[in-house]
Amino acid sequence: KIRVRYAPSPTGLLHIGNARTALFNYLYARHHGGDFIIRIEDTDRKRHVEDGERSQLDNLRWLGMDWDESPETHENYRQSERLSLYQTYIDELLASGHAYHSYKTEEEIAADREAQEAKGLPPVYISEYTGMTDEQVATYIADRQAAGVVPTVRIKVPAGAIYKWHDIVKGDIEFEGKNLGGDWVIQKRDGYPTYNFAVVVDDHDMQISHVIRGDDHIANTPKQLMIYEALGWAIPEFGHMTLIINSETGKKLSKRDTNTLQFIEDYRKKGYLPEAVFNFISLLGWNPGGEEEIFSQAQLIELFDENRLSKSPAAFDQKKLDWLDNDYIKHADLDKVFALATPFLSEVGRLDDKSKHLVALYQPQLKSIDEIVPLTDLFYSAFPDLTDEAKEVLETETAPVVIKAFKEKLENLADADYVKDNIFPLIKAVQKETGIKGKNLFMPIRIAVSGEMHGPELPDTIYLLGKEKAVNHLAQFIK
Ligand code: GLU
Repeated sequence: KIRVRYAPSPTGLLHIGNARTALFNYLYARHHGGDFIIRIEDTDRKRHVEDGERSQLDNLRWLGMDWDESPETHENYRQSERLSLYQTYIDELLASGHAYHSYKTEEEIAADREAQEAKGLPPVYISEYTGMTDEQVATYIADRQAAGVVPTVRIKVPAGAIYKWHDIVKGDIEFEGKNLGGDWVIQKRDGYPTYNFAVVVDDHDMQISHVIRGDDHIANTPKQLMIYEALGWAIPEFGHMTLIINSETGKKLSKRDTNTLQFIEDYRKKGYLPEAVFNFISLLGWNPGGEEEIFSQAQLIELFDENRLSKSPAAFDQKKLDWLDNDYIKHADLDKVFALATPFLSEVGRLDDKSKHLVALYQPQLKSIDEIVPLTDLFYSAFPDLTDEAKEVLETETAPVVIKAFKEKLENLADADYVKDNIFPLIKAVQKETGIKGKNLFMPIRIAVSGEMHGPELPDTIYLLGKEKAVNHLAQFIK
């Protein structure tokens, strides 16, 4: 049975890179009718963040994912709760001679490393037991124990070992054991396992069939293969997804890239639609072929094909996310968009009888729901500053004529007649009266009323402004 997992370390908020790992595992499981499992890898106590696990799960749920097994429903799905299981296998590896206690102190290890660096050699762990007789070993261990040195457990890299696998994404990959940096730690001094050891025990114990993760883990895979071999376990399939680059800089997407939003929490706060974000993430390093880019979750599950995971880096393009989100917002029900916009409007005290009309007016142009606030500034706060281009329009010969004529007509409209359908005829009347038409007619009115050269339907804007505001705006441009 296909069983895949997403195994976050709760060291911070859910980042887009991790969300992508989760999402591809999710699609893979759902496409094949397999299981999707969430396991929390919290053995690095130093990097533990209080709310990390909650942020992971809440945000995955917000994106629309669900899972079959997780710490919420299953006991011991956090690595910190599985220490005795790791101990069992550490003892097994110690007993079989694959692993040993290492009493070298951090100072000694650092000194070795410095000496290697001085000679221009790559850092390799040198076993303290090399060349010792059994008797010397016994004395050495006794001395160290007496001195209170707490050991780590290291696994021996077999001489001449070669580790290879066929990667679902990258094809054949091969590592030589001698490049792994020497015998490496599987249990730290604090008794916690290291990631490379624990991940294998867990993937085996949870019967994971496919490990799909970021390619920052490629160099870890040979170490993990070592553990599978030492314990005589079946090896799962591996797939390493390419990194995500910032489409503007061409470099690895970094948390310091300020032109992008990278935490799922950020999208939530700004009112992106989760369906749009899900769609966007699904195209980071994958595509189903063809030109189409808008896919529902159900379609993605149906279409998902791991053989189409890209070998080249995925470009993170904030503009594409905004384009997608706008497309989802545009096609959503007004009621839904209004409900999403309500908290943003309410926060700035703009929830009133006009709100829903304003949301309807701007729905087609929203790139994220929070934009409803700046877009409705016109209706609640000071008139905006004009761009030079807009000023030029108002300086044309015909502009003042149009503005003046329209203002008079609007003023003369009885309050009871101030309804949307009565506004366009006034503009037409100005055209008839002045002989000015097209752009020269509409643009000066639009700018004088809204301060902008582009925007939603002009009669709607004028209607929603209310007669008084609209007339006042026009009056500013009459000398
Ligand atoms: N805890 C690891 C991480 O967050 C998971 C790596 C894996 O999937 O094996 O990167």
